[in-house]
Amino acid sequence: MSRGREVDFSLLDKPVQFLKGVGPRRAEGLQRMGLLTARDVLFHVPRRYDDASTVDDIADLDVGMDATVRGRVRTKGVIPTRAGLRIFQAVLEDATGRITVAWPGQPWLDRKLREGDVLLVTGPVKFFHGRQIQPREFTLMGRGDEGDTGEEGPEGAIFVAYPASEDVPQWVLRGVFEKNLESLLRLVAAEEYLPDDERTRLGLPGLAEALESLHRPTSLADAETGRKRLAFDELFFLQIVQAQVRHRQTRERPGIAAQRTNTLIRPLHESLPFSLTHAQAAVLREITADMTSTRRMNRMLQGDVGAGKTLVALFAMLLAAEGGWQSVLLAPTELLAEQHARKLRELTADLPVEVALLTGRLGAADRRNALAALAGGDAQLVVGTHALLQEGVEFRRLGLVVVDEQHRFGVRQRMLLAEREPPPDVLVMSATPIPRSLALTLYGDLDLSVLDELPPGRKPIQTFLRYPRSRDAVYGFVDEQLSQGRQAYVVYPLVEESEKVDLRAATQEFERLSSEVFSHRRLGLLHGQMHSDEKDATMRAFLSGELELLVATSVIEVGIDVPNATVMVIEHAERFGLSQLHQLRGRVGRGSDESFCVLVAEVGGDAAERLKVFRDTTDGFEIARADLRIRGQGDLFGSQQHGRDPVLRFADLSRDEGILLEAQRLARRIVEADPELDDPAHVRVRGVLEARYAERLKLFGVG
Ligand code: ADP
Ligand code: MG
Repeated sequence: MSRGREVDFSLLDKPVQFLKGVGPRRAEGLQRMGLLTARDVLFHVPRRYDDASTVDDIADLDVGMDATVRGRVRTKGVIPTRAGLRIFQAVLEDATGRITVAWPGQPWLDRKLREGDVLLVTGPVKFFHGRQIQPREFTLMGRGDEGDTGEEGPEGAIFVAYPASEDVPQWVLRGVFEKNLESLLRLVAAEEYLPDDERTRLGLPGLAEALESLHRPTSLADAETGRKRLAFDELFFLQIVQAQVRHRQTRERPGIAAQRTNTLIRPLHESLPFSLTHAQAAVLREITADMTSTRRMNRMLQGDVGAGKTLVALFAMLLAAEGGWQSVLLAPTELLAEQHARKLRELTADLPVEVALLTGRLGAADRRNALAALAGGDAQLVVGTHALLQEGVEFRRLGLVVVDEQHRFGVRQRMLLAEREPPPDVLVMSATPIPRSLALTLYGDLDLSVLDELPPGRKPIQTFLRYPRSRDAVYGFVDEQLSQGRQAYVVYPLVEESEKVDLRAATQEFERLSSEVFSHRRLGLLHGQMHSDEKDATMRAFLSGELELLVATSVIEVGIDVPNATVMVIEHAERFGLSQLHQLRGRVGRGSDESFCVLVAEVGGDAAERLKVFRDTTDGFEIARADLRIRGQGDLFGSQQHGRDPVLRFADLSRDEGILLEAQRLARRIVEADPELDDPAHVRVRGVLEARYAERLKLFGVG
């Protein structure tokens, strides 16, 4: 089959200078905005839309309203006040009347705006020598004296506002679209890769149609329909690449088919003093189906701390063992590995399986014994740290790799064990709940299982918000808990107090707390700059109860289970993200005693919203969704987000989960049938992938 391209993509990839109405100077301005090619311009996303129903008549404005008006500047000027503040004022006029618009402290606007300009202004209507708007936001829609009238369109017309710049203002961009949109749409129509029947099934418009709706919507709903199609495309192409990775990982080489005999699984079931949650049972069915097929498993298990992931992992490991396969459970720290090994040994005490532990702490003899048990096959269940990834670690028959806290390992490390022959099944686990849409986007190459239910009977942790001025009362409460034999954490955001940021850094506070408030208690300090041996020793001392109060930075967020710890105090809580707070809170409430989380924060504004969401729910997934909504998705991609080229510009993961599921389904169906996209029916998919997404996908680490 031909690998040639059916469509010529080159015209859309020409520099912006070839667009009508764009000379060298404008071209430079566009480039500075990150718009290098005709394609970039065509896919430039509007910043906002306003229609007649969102734009108010000036005559109707009342004091106290939040208004959006569109009008022409009649007069303007700068007015000094007695307090020395300079206010820029303009009088705006529409067909119904006039109103004063005032920008306190922005006299420079006098040089930017001219009489005759058409402005779209949004802000509260106040009373100040008559009605007045103080804009939160405004857009220069048209420049009266440059031919562009910015005139109101017909009834119901939509006003499109683009992200603009000083060199390339709004009306210039609008002019560029005016002159070029038709021909650009004709070019892009040739890139349509979705067959008509598929589009109809999905209820999506054609590509050219969608872009027309984006730039010239007939209604706000029309603009949204266009956005949806473009969002689908973004998600679809990410999913195509991830589906290709998935295909390579799970389909190219036959995997191991586990043999279920129930000789180990049933006795474990029967020995448990509780029954599995519905979520655990459902996830186990998914895992069993994967493991018993010859297709290789590559699955992610998401579940909040305490949701029972370890138990699910144990069942999977026993399933492997029933067929004579060994399993590995990989943990990010020695303490965690030891904790897992202890738990697994307890749970399998009456079963004919052996649990081996391999960490860097083992002495030479123990290490030799462990290695022999792995190589000889005596140990069916193997728990360990990075030490398991080193050379010289051999298995007799490795069939399953489970990775706990998968984000603590690099992709490389994760795959090291998985690359053996025959390819073992892989289950990666994460205790960081993230919204399903984000998981499907970041880990589209994996299959996803979610434990969205906690075992019954957990005591909810009580969460309080306290101002810094109540700190003494908080200390009093902590001391009371310590007197009852409980343990507590106090967490700070930074290690060392910097001169710029006045934070109560852990080290300084540790000194103060040990010598003053808690001088009668046994305190330990834990922070990220300590040597890992020191950290380990401190953590062990806390675990054994030798230390009563642990002063720490957020390094304790991953991992450790101290059932006797009942209080988590988080200082400067407003500096932590919601997910991080959730992880910290998860350190307490692990035993049978009532537990508490106290957030000490100077709350106001955004932080207040976040902290209240946090106080009012303990559901990690709900917190993660709120985090996505409040912070936006940009942050969540972290370093993958780069400059002006965000990974997703049209898709909004807080509301596009449905579109995403469709995109993943279609992408997987196509790649299963035609992994390299050689089929003539998929040549355009490949072409668009290469033309539109190559760079971005590389950034994403999946290209
Ligand atoms: P995770 O690894 O998800 O943090 P674990 O598997 O360590 O959670 O489970 C936390 C605790 O809950 C353990 O003590 C475990 O024995 C217990 N547990 C697990 N599943 C159930 C269940 N279905 N009912 C009651 N307790 C459970
Ligand atoms: Mg766990």
